[in-house]
Amino acid sequence: MLYLSTRGHPDRKRFCEILLEGLAPDGGLYLPEAYPQVDAATLARWRAVLADQGYAALAFEVLSLYIDDIPAADLKAICARTYTAEVFGSAAIVPLTKLEDGFSLEALSNGPTLAFKDMAMQLLGNLFEYELGRRGAELNILGATSGDTGSAAEYAMRGKQGVRVFMLSPHGRMSPFQQAQMFSLMDANIHNIAVEGVFDDCQDIVKAVSNDLDFKRQYKIGTVNSINWARLLAQVVYYFAGYFYATRSNDQKVSFAVPSGNFGNVCAGHVARQMGLPIGRLIVATNENDVLDEFFRTGTYRVRGSADTYETSSPSMDISKASNFERFVFDLLGRDAARTKELFDDGLRQQGRFDLGADPLFAQAASRYGFVSGKSTHADRLATIQDIFERFGVMIDTHTADGVKVARERRQPGETVVVLETALPIKFAETIREALGRDPERPAKFEGIEALPKRVQVMRADVAAVKRYIGDHCHA
Ligand SMILES: *Cc1c(COP(=O)(O)O)cnc(C)c1O
Repeated sequence: MLYLSTRGHPDRKRFCEILLEGLAPDGGLYLPEAYPQVDAATLARWRAVLADQGYAALAFEVLSLYIDDIPAADLKAICARTYTAEVFGSAAIVPLTKLEDGFSLEALSNGPTLAFKDMAMQLLGNLFEYELGRRGAELNILGATSGDTGSAAEYAMRGKQGVRVFMLSPHGRMSPFQQAQMFSLMDANIHNIAVEGVFDDCQDIVKAVSNDLDFKRQYKIGTVNSINWARLLAQVVYYFAGYFYATRSNDQKVSFAVPSGNFGNVCAGHVARQMGLPIGRLIVATNENDVLDEFFRTGTYRVRGSADTYETSSPSMDISKASNFERFVFDLLGRDAARTKELFDDGLRQQGRFDLGADPLFAQAASRYGFVSGKSTHADRLATIQDIFERFGVMIDTHTADGVKVARERRQPGETVVVLETALPIKFAETIREALGRDPERPAKFEGIEALPKRVQVMRADVAAVKRYIGDHCHA
C-alpha cells in the first residue's frame, strides 16, 4: 500500500514514513492510492472476528490492509495492547446503547480521557513507540490544545520510550476537569505549558516553532494533529464495529450521525464506506460553527476568521476551517490533484473560500457519497440533553447532543441511525447542570482529580521562551 498527496506531489510513501510526518511536502494530505475493497466474504469473516476474538482483532484486520511495513505479528500485538477492556472500560470497546428502534448511540468515549480522540491517539502512542524504537530515534511532540486533543495525546504518550510531549494550553481557560486531567500527570516525558493568552496564541506559537526548520530538525519536533493518517485509519475500525453491533446480517444498511469539527471523525466513515461497508448515509452535525453544514447545503466552503468563530458549549467543534476536509474534496473531484491544489492552495489561501455549487460533481456529495448535514445551537443542545435524559434515562454530552439533534431531524422512516457519542457529560458539567439541574455522573477513576497536585509551567506568549523551555527539557 502506497500513499499519495492530495495536491499531486510525485512521491509515493509507505505507512511508517507518513506516520511520523504531518502534511505532505506540497502541503497536501496523505491518502492511500486506492481504498482496499472489502467483499461480502470478508465482511462476513470480520463480523465473526469481532464476535469471537474482539475489537483488537478486528482492528488488526482493517489496519493490515493499509500497513504493510510492520510485520503482521507486531501489528497484531500493537492492536492487542491498545484496545483492552482495562483502557476502554468494556470488552466491547465501543458498546452500543439502543435508544429506540433504529436509533442507537455508539460510545467512543470510555477511554482514558473520556473523549473519542482516545480511540486513535492510544494506537498512535503505541505505533510511535514501536517505530521510534525500530529506528533508534526520538520525537518531541509539540501541540496546542483547548482541551480534548491535548489530554488524549498526553495520556497516549505518557511513559512511552523515545517520545516527549510539550503541550501548550491557554492559561486558566480550560475547564477545571480538563486542567486536572492534564496537569495531574507526573510522567517525566509530559510537559504542560500554560500560555498567558488564548488558544490562538498557543497555536501561533506552535506554527512559529514549526516554521523554524532548523529548530525543528535539531530538536526533532513533530505533531499529532488530526490530519495524521494513522489517526484517521484507527477511526475507520469503529465504523465497522458499530455496523456489526447494530445489525444481524451484512445485507442491512446503517447510517452514522457524527458530531463534526475538523472532519476527521466523519472522514473515517467516508473511508469505511468507500471500502464497501454498507453505510447508508453519513450525517454531518455541526454546532453554530457551521462551515461544513454550509458546504453540504450549498457547495460553498467558506472558512471563518477568528472573529466569526463562536465559543460554544460544544467547544471541540468550534472550528473555523475543517483541516481534514481536503481529503473528501479530493475524492469528490474524482481525485483530481491539480484541481484540489487550486481550490485549497490558491482559492482558500487567497480568497478564504471556494464554491462548487455549480459543479455537477457537487451533487455527488449526497447522491454518490451519502453526505447530508445539519446544524445545532446551544438551545438545541439543552433541549436534546433534557429530552434524551427524560425519555431514556441516558445522559449525553453537548457534542453528542449536536449529533442526536441533527440525526433526528434528518432521519428517514425505516433508516437505522447510529449516533457517535464523542465525549462523556462529566467533561462539560456546566452545560449539563444548565440542562438538567444536576451534576453529571463521574467515573470512579476521576473522583477528586481536581485536588491532585498539578505539574504545569506558566509562561508568557513568547516563541523564544517556549523554544528555550523545549531546548532545556528535551534531553532529560
Ligand atoms: C474532536 C471532537 C469532535 C470533532 O471531531 P472531528 O474529527 O474534529 O470532526 C467532536 N466531539 C468531541 C468531543 C471532540 O473531542
